[in-house]
Amino acid sequence: MKTRRRKFHRRVYWAILRRQKLRCACDCNVKLTRAEGYQFDHITALALGGADTPENLRAVRTPCHKRISTVDIGMIRKADRQGKAHRGDKKRRGRVMPSRPFDTRLRRRMDGRVEVRT
Ligand SMILES: [Zn+2]
Repeated sequence: MKTRRRKFHRRVYWAILRRQKLRCACDCNVKLTRAEGYQFDHITALALGGADTPENLRAVRTPCHKRISTVDIGMIRKADRQGKAHRGDKKRRGRVMPSRPFDTRLRRRMDGRVEVRT
């Protein structure tokens, strides 16, 4: 799945960095450094319907970005699976459950007695 991402002006990226006080946007809160490297990540992945806007961007350290991307891929796959199941093109595993696995000539009463339908 290829998702096109917009390029923003340098000023936009700077605004994001300033918004985060130059710290990683994930829970680690470690200072972003050029030496370690950092990336701009979509808060909600584009593949999950996230907007390609500066508001949906955040800067994260390279190690954090890798971790977050892995989680995202899991969610994207899941969303994809659910979409498929919803559209009904998911491959069925095993046999179709018979809707009436019981003898339709017999009827069980609420008190447990079984009688033959007439
Ligand atoms: Zn982090």
